[in-house]
Amino acid sequence: METTMSHIALLASPGMGHLIPVLELAKHLVSHQSFKVTVFVVATDHASLANTHLLQSPADSGDLPDIVLLPFIDVSDIGGPSVSFIATIVITVLRSMPFLRSEISKMEFRPTALVVDLFGTDALEIADEYNMLKFVFIASNAWFLAVMLCTPEIDRKEIDEHVKNRKPLHIPGCKPIKFEHNLEVFFMDANDPFYQGYVEAINKMSLTDGILVNTWDELEPTTLKALRETKKVPIYPIGPLVRPIEKGFGNEIIAWLDKQPKQSVIYVSFGSGGTLSAQQVKELAWGLELSQQKFVWVLRPPIENDAAGTFLALGNGSDATLNYLPDGFLVRTQDRGLLVPMWAPQVEVLSHPSIGGFLTHCGWNSTMESIVNGVPMIAWPLYAERKMNASMLTEDIGASIRVMAVESDAAVGREEIRSVVRKILVDRQGRNIRSRIKELKDSAENALAKGGSSYNSMSQVANICIQHLKTKASGA
Ligand code: UDP
Repeated sequence: METTMSHIALLASPGMGHLIPVLELAKHLVSHQSFKVTVFVVATDHASLANTHLLQSPADSGDLPDIVLLPFIDVSDIGGPSVSFIATIVITVLRSMPFLRSEISKMEFRPTALVVDLFGTDALEIADEYNMLKFVFIASNAWFLAVMLCTPEIDRKEIDEHVKNRKPLHIPGCKPIKFEHNLEVFFMDANDPFYQGYVEAINKMSLTDGILVNTWDELEPTTLKALRETKKVPIYPIGPLVRPIEKGFGNEIIAWLDKQPKQSVIYVSFGSGGTLSAQQVKELAWGLELSQQKFVWVLRPPIENDAAGTFLALGNGSDATLNYLPDGFLVRTQDRGLLVPMWAPQVEVLSHPSIGGFLTHCGWNSTMESIVNGVPMIAWPLYAERKMNASMLTEDIGASIRVMAVESDAAVGREEIRSVVRKILVDRQGRNIRSRIKELKDSAENALAKGGSSYNSMSQVANICIQHLKTKASGA
């Protein structure tokens, strides 16, 4: 058996937003560190994985990680409107643990390290059982990580002030969180079992061999410095890890984009699962139409409709199937817009020269993809830590402008949408953001290049794994 080669196991939680960055980390470990890598995928719905090309190997891919799909987990017994999406993920991962343990126990070439994502901390005890190193991979930014790691230490009185009196929440060494950018977790009672599980997960993270985070030193220097000074667990910024362009996907969309002028199209997408209300979809359609600009819109049926079984054919010109759009919208925008049902090959779209802006829900993967492809953003956060991301992108990094609702929970109006689309595609503001994005893109490339900050962080992690393997082999 090969003893000089480290074998790293990764665990991906359910959801494309988790699977995509874990797969990228896995590919990076194979191609840059020459490790053997196995990715265990927890999924509630294997069929949805088949709909994307994520688990297929592109023709020129070379060595790839091994993918092990853990058995399908039925969570129908815990369903219902009162159970949050996050709680469903947590329970699914928990129920997958016996399968993961069994897979690892029967591996002849046992992994040296286990890397779990945000929701996988229950698996860390399996790493302990098999004397594996333990790492956590946060596919978000350092500010979010800092907030998470600090939560158990924040005085409850301060949290109350934040929640009840809307005072900013102080995070040591980092930008405070404004009430408007709040995370759901701060609204929970300290005795809520879900809150307690969250704190337990954070405590487990703090006892690992390190936390890998999909950012880079030059993007968040202050936060990363604060984390290193205040936390015992080593922090490794290794990003931005972003899915590369894979030719051959989304040919119809690319063919449409090929016909459009350079930087003339706004790409509109709300991540792997984001949906809008019927009223919001209508306002968005009106806003795009009124902007008089070209658009590619990844369209999902609004949440009030019964989305199950709805099929939106690409280029479908019939108002009958898309009756939640304004009357006549498809006809009036047919020369300017492309509706993509449900899922687009996002990286391929963002890398196209015709794309001039990205209206995004500010998921961190989408954000990184936009930056490495040099595309300015319009930030329209929908849920979770996306409001923090939007605030960071707009106020600190200068990579986006922000969509404003008239009242915080009201639908964003068509006039606002018209205005932000024009600001990004037509006005000077868009040009300024584009040049800022270019700086960020260069900085990201430098971080990943040999000798760059993220390259060095990744090498440190690799060395720790190699050292651990040698120690084990020598029987120490
Ligand atoms: N994605 C895609 N096509 C789509 C929607 C999403 O390829 O139509 C990919 C996108 O490129 C990104 C991921 O799904 O890599 C979404 O992750 P993100 O962190 O942006 O948001 P989340 O889905 O977790 O809210």
